[in-house]
Amino acid sequence: VGVFFRPVDKINAVIETYPKGIAGFRRYLDLLDTAPDVVDRPGARPVPALRGDIRFEGVGFGYGAGRPVLDGIDLAVRAGETVAFVGPSGAGKTTLCALLPRFYDVDRGRITIDGTDLRDMTLASLRRQIGIVQQDVFLFAGTLRDNIAYGRLGAGEAEIREAARRAELDALIARLPDGLDTMVGERGVKLSGGQKQRLAIARIFLKDPPILILDEATSALDTATEVAIQRSLAELSDGRTTLVIAHRLATVRHADRIVVVDGHGLVEQGRHGELVARDGAYRRLHDAQFAAR
Ligand code: ATP
Repeated sequence: VGVFFRPVDKINAVIETYPKGIAGFRRYLDLLDTAPDVVDRPGARPVPALRGDIRFEGVGFGYGAGRPVLDGIDLAVRAGETVAFVGPSGAGKTTLCALLPRFYDVDRGRITIDGTDLRDMTLASLRRQIGIVQQDVFLFAGTLRDNIAYGRLGAGEAEIREAARRAELDALIARLPDGLDTMVGERGVKLSGGQKQRLAIARIFLKDPPILILDEATSALDTATEVAIQRSLAELSDGRTTLVIAHRLATVRHADRIVVVDGHGLVEQGRHGELVARDGAYRRLHDAQFAAR
């Protein structure tokens, strides 16, 4: 999400130096384009460090008039809690999470963090406190160090190394002849899917936000990598309020709470065991996903 604060001239520089990388980068530009309306309200204030108590109160939102994607959403997430959103494709899981960094503003109701309406915070101060791990990791032509430091521009060497260590990138760095000075991207060392995920995780350790959004990868990594990445993500989410956009039920079992999103609303909530026992929407999703294997 750091890219949202990136000055436009930097964005152009990235495109110029990375012409074939545009496809991956396009998504970010699309997001920038699709959220032109969200600007600071007059009187919006920078928020200090947040604890991360999130509330959706009667939230309604649609991408077009008369086509609500979310309607009457009430949800309270405690600071430090991990909530996983599951549900059929198109149910609105991603949309719900996109409202938190205000890629879009709600049509009805409000969202608060620590009691303050998001619209009363400056966008920059809000987004500084939210880390997003997405499937597509944005890499630019530069060194591994620069790509990690992108999590928090101006971070010192020791902090960058610590973030790399916590994301379990240190073994890779030790193997590379130029270590952190190794060029990555199209003209440099090509990183695997798992290594890119680790890079994204390192950036967020560096950014150290109280709130995390994990957009779970849909394309499978190999099992060993997957397990290791899950371990890093668990460490990353420790002590942070975490919203997981879950595409695979197998990874959400340990969430503090699972919320089933279906059509316009939230239809069920609870822990994995409770929901399986309840024999409702989650159970049906669960049975369908595991029967399909
Ligand atoms: P998936 O599991 O497939 O990622 P999801 O539950 O995350 O689905 P969303 O991506 O939030 O669902 O989509 C909810 C609805 O909003 C869908 O009908 C989708 O087509 C629509 N939608 C999502 N993004 C946009 C957009 N940028 N513009 C218009 N409609 C959108």
